Amino acid sequence: MGCVITEIGPILIDTPMLPEEADRLRKELFLLSDLDIAHIIYTHQHFDHVIGSAYLSKRTIAHQGTLTGIGYLKNNLKKEINLFFPDLHEQRKDVFDHLEIVLPQITFTTELTLYIGDVTLQLSFTGGHSSASIIIYIPEERVLFMGDNLATGMLPVTANCRYGQWIDLLERVEQMDVETYIPGHGDVCGKETVRGVRLYFEAMRDRVRDCLNQGVPKEKVFDKIHLKDSLPLPFSEEIMQQSAFDVSIMCDQIVKGYL
Ligand SMILES: [Zn+2]
Repeated sequence: MGCVITEIGPILIDTPMLPEEADRLRKELFLLSDLDIAHIIYTHQHFDHVIGSAYLSKRTIAHQGTLTGIGYLKNNLKKEINLFFPDLHEQRKDVFDHLEIVLPQITFTTELTLYIGDVTLQLSFTGGHSSASIIIYIPEERVLFMGDNLATGMLPVTANCRYGQWIDLLERVEQMDVETYIPGHGDVCGKETVRGVRLYFEAMRDRVRDCLNQGVPKEKVFDKIHLKDSLPLPFSEEIMQQSAFDVSIMCDQIVKGYL
């Protein structure tokens, strides 16, 4: 997540998950601006990016496609949290049992530009990581918020992705006038990191495609393609496990003709 300080107040990009994290954030924002949060922009609909609005502000902006996914969270938050953080919901029932999920107040489908004093925020639909993912470009600062289409220190999460859109996006944002990329998870980074993720996906796509063309069964593909040389971060068993999952999603999408 991140923040842009403007003359109408801070604009948050995504939100923290827990109230104590939101309190810390409010204190940090207070050092940067006297004004209250002007808007929260959701980069996509996943719970770990949106539920913190309940503690911060209802003035939310997102892609139109987030409405369904965020609406789903209203009755299924426990299930979603348990998928990724098995103990968290149980430990923090005090928070999650009564959490008011905040749907976006303003939505768009392709592009939306906010002109606020000397800051411009260009919001563009991208898809890729999720069906309603967007990027937010601040041209004056040469900063690009990538949402979960980029992660550092971990592989990006591919469970609900469209690889075709995602690879196109990474190629496109590498060409943009950007100095600082802000990922959905991990530290800020430069073009080399974006390139590393793109090369990983491209190597996977090309090798998976070759295997499937040769008639290799889906469950054998990962062992055949030796992706270790193309990983965008140092090798570990955990990374390879996720990579095997990424490959199985890639197989399905190639078989279905998505890329
Ligand atoms: Zn996500």
